[in-house]
Amino acid sequence: MSEKKSRYFIRTFGCQMNESDSERISGMLGQTGAVKAERPEDADLVIVNTCAVREKSEAKLFSYLGRLAQLKKEKNLRIAVVGCVAQLRGWELLEKKAAVDFVLGPDNTAELISLVQEEAAEKHVSTSWTKEWHETSPGLIQRDSPVSAYVTVMEGCDNFCAYCVVPYTRGREKYRPLRSILGEVHDLARKGYLEAQLLGQNVNSYQDPDSGKPFTELLRAVATVEGIEWIRFLTSHPKNFRPEIAEAMAGIRKVCRQLHLPLQSGSNAVLKRMKRGYTREEYLNIISRLRSLMPGIGLSTDIIVGLPGETDQDFEETVEVLRQVRFINIFSFRYSPRPMTAASRLEDSVPKVTKQRRLEEIQRVQKDIQLEDHRRLVGQTMRVLCLGHGQKTPHLFSGRNAGNQVVNFRSDEDSTGRFVEVRITGFGPFSLLGEKTI
Ligand code: SF4
Repeated sequence: MSEKKSRYFIRTFGCQMNESDSERISGMLGQTGAVKAERPEDADLVIVNTCAVREKSEAKLFSYLGRLAQLKKEKNLRIAVVGCVAQLRGWELLEKKAAVDFVLGPDNTAELISLVQEEAAEKHVSTSWTKEWHETSPGLIQRDSPVSAYVTVMEGCDNFCAYCVVPYTRGREKYRPLRSILGEVHDLARKGYLEAQLLGQNVNSYQDPDSGKPFTELLRAVATVEGIEWIRFLTSHPKNFRPEIAEAMAGIRKVCRQLHLPLQSGSNAVLKRMKRGYTREEYLNIISRLRSLMPGIGLSTDIIVGLPGETDQDFEETVEVLRQVRFINIFSFRYSPRPMTAASRLEDSVPKVTKQRRLEEIQRVQKDIQLEDHRRLVGQTMRVLCLGHGQKTPHLFSGRNAGNQVVNFRSDEDSTGRFVEVRITGFGPFSLLGEKTI
């Protein structure tokens, strides 16, 4: 490496797994002496960590790469595309976007280190998969939050839902050894972290590769780490969400009373075409069980509207489930065909305007539910983990309660990294507002 420190900028698209991967990449590059830049204009390497889950996310990537290509005309810049689109498109990306220098799939990002150290001038594409878990040193991860940390416990997915490209971009499931997960969680506790969020595409199917211990044992083991007070996990799958997982959650004090459980559709016909492996009734049974074990549990979900063949009646059944369950939050999307998936071989039969109308309808219904439920919380006092300044207003902080609702609150002192009691005084559709009492 030259004397002058290399400066890199990372732009992350997509889910928490990608955010976590970007923190890991920052850690690796930090080891080479490279320094993080706040803007691409100040960097000599821009890493774009990509998401392939929807057509729209790929379109956003291509537009961003267009802007970087302009910047590259003005200054010496190398561009690395990493993550799911890198895996999916490989060399095609270099053909379409000549400004890109390196293309690295999710299992190949460690190669960035040698590419940076050697100041590689050649174009480079690497998209091979490893079957085994590849451990990076958790001590090197440069985390964005000093309070709540992502801990990857597995990667990949064996489910092949009909609309989903993830098994083709992240590969088959592989599990991280329990001892290294625990090593990372102990390290977090020593650094003062209070919350660990266990991440994976399908965490419920976790099995320790050394002992075969299942996900429930992982939860119990993480809960033994002193200093870590709250544990969350995602993503769960209703098909793999066995009754003992709900029982383990209820029995472990540190596991937050919160679950993200993707429904995708409330219609059995659509769920079948999606190859989700459960029915609406089975999904609702899980919800009832969770609520009987943990009254007040915060539930969130994912919804896709407009899968090929989705009728108005199918859509109405999804809306009914939303009204019945009253999720605290949903992530809703219009279906778009993704390469290699089973659904992409079906005719994309629902017109774009119908998909858009259904998306808006579902978001309107959900917004009303959230407003009504938030209104009922006014006057209540709740425990909140303060994650930092929410907005630029002085004395306004932001955190989450155990149910994973966003709580913004006023406080005269900086409460970042502490549990506080907040009395709710107001609300919006997506967050609660309150005053710190303790
Ligand atoms: S469970 Fe289905 S939707 Fe989730 S990552 Fe796997 S294939 Fe995709």
